Amino acid sequence: MSDLILFWHRRDLRLSDNIGLAAAREKSQNVVGVFCLDPSLLQRDEVAPAKINYMMGCLQALQQRYAQAGSQLLILKADPQSAIPGLATALKAKAVFWNLDVEPYSQKRDRAIQEALKQAGISFRNFWDQLLHAPDEIRTGNGDPYTVYSPFWRNWSSKPKAEPAKELEAAIGLTEQEQTVAQNAGAIALPTARDLGFVWDNPLLLEPGEAAAQERLETFCDHSIVDYQEQRNFPFNPEGTSHLSAALKFGAIGVRTVWAKTTEAMEQARSDEAKDGIRVWRQELAWREFYQTVMYFFPQLADGAYRKPFQNFPWDNNPEHFKAWCEGKTGYPIVDAAMRQMNELGWMHNRCRMIVASFLTKDLMIDVKLGEKYFMQRLYDGDLSANNGGWQWSASSGMDPKPLRIFNPASQTKKFDSEAEYIRQWLPELRSIETEDLVTGNILPLDRDRCGYPAPIVDHNEQQKRFKALYQQQRAQ
Ligand SMILES: Cc1cc2nc3c(=O)[nH]c(=O)nc-3n(C[C@H](O)[C@H](O)[C@H](O)COP(=O)(O)OP(=O)(O)OC[C@H]3O[C@@H](n4cnc5c(N)ncnc54)[C@H](O)[C@@H]3O)c2cc1C
Repeated sequence: MSDLILFWHRRDLRLSDNIGLAAAREKSQNVVGVFCLDPSLLQRDEVAPAKINYMMGCLQALQQRYAQAGSQLLILKADPQSAIPGLATALKAKAVFWNLDVEPYSQKRDRAIQEALKQAGISFRNFWDQLLHAPDEIRTGNGDPYTVYSPFWRNWSSKPKAEPAKELEAAIGLTEQEQTVAQNAGAIALPTARDLGFVWDNPLLLEPGEAAAQERLETFCDHSIVDYQEQRNFPFNPEGTSHLSAALKFGAIGVRTVWAKTTEAMEQARSDEAKDGIRVWRQELAWREFYQTVMYFFPQLADGAYRKPFQNFPWDNNPEHFKAWCEGKTGYPIVDAAMRQMNELGWMHNRCRMIVASFLTKDLMIDVKLGEKYFMQRLYDGDLSANNGGWQWSASSGMDPKPLRIFNPASQTKKFDSEAEYIRQWLPELRSIETEDLVTGNILPLDRDRCGYPAPIVDHNEQQKRFKALYQQQRAQ
């Protein structure tokens, strides 16, 4: 019998293309998975029920995959700092392997666990898996981390990409006796999201698990990716983007697999437009890596604005305005449609994420942190680095060299929802209103009353003037 290695899954809920897991299997036949439901990460006020539903579904699928491979995925529900070393000690595991994460909380937790494992005499190994390039690989000529996306992309895209890691197909799991030991050390049956208090009855945009993520990747890359450059900004088009964000967040699919599929699509592309579509989608994958890389090097981003003028910005923070924004009742159709999409689906189109974030910070002058938190409470793909990056970009408070970007809701609608199809989809009470009025947002008071739709809570033109003046004032300080 070979030595037992525990593989600790975190945001890599799959057996295929998993670097740390493949390394564990190479070392030993006796590989058992473990996932820890960390109470401090399951604070209900901070986490979207849709997201926990997706995650628990992925864990269920992963448990089945382990069973098919001949092993098990153990579930703990406790502070991982004591539970992981405790389980490893009880099972007399030779080693614990895991893949690294960029988030400040994870890094601190991992350091403590490494220390505890050392003291228990259990070895450990960790790997970079969730990025195509580990944070340290992409540096400027001076060896500094990048703070601007475009040069990051140039460097990142010029580097060769690794092939997918070998799938774990078969492993030896725990004996019955060892399973009892694991239970005594805290292993439990997999709870449902509802058991954990996260109720989400609407269907998820993407089914949880490896198989569904793989199928989505294939469908998108076989059909829609070639039109991505053209279609990605139109929120009414469900085929315009991949809908892979939650799978990438929880690692239901490996990034190397995703990249390999884009390479295959590139080889088959017959026109320059098709190649451009694939290149632009790859740039989005690079945005994901950029935001994770800056979070790794500048963890202070998680706490608030990066740029000085925003660090003590005199936000209005009007609670009624915030409530109206959250509920999709601002009187600006494109903003309200987007917020209702998120409240109902746990997902919002990227173009609309930018529009509503600009509106919250620049029109309502509400603190970017409040918007960022509300997104995390609703999104099923909510991810600290991508969400923080998106919010700081939209609020102009991040590392972006272009300082002030204010989206005009009417011009955005004219460009990206010119027939008001998206607006009508999410604001059914406005279906009878003329397209022109929905696009400009100039809906007659009589019509608003008839449809039960609110008047605009602020005036966009007035507010942008106010915002610019305050911004200049802050810069001068
Ligand atoms: C204010 C704001 C908040 C956001 N919050 C999140 C979040 O919590 N989680 C999240 O995954 N994305 C977030 N994004 C980025 C983006 O909106 C989503 O990744 C995208 O809408 C997901 O849909 P998709 O999978 O169809 O994307 P596609 O367009 O198909 O893109 C492919 C993948 O690239 C990545 N990606 C795409 N755009 C970005 C981006 N701008 N930044 C980082 N990664 C990107 C995602 O992993 C995505 O799945 C946010 C953007 C903004 C402006």
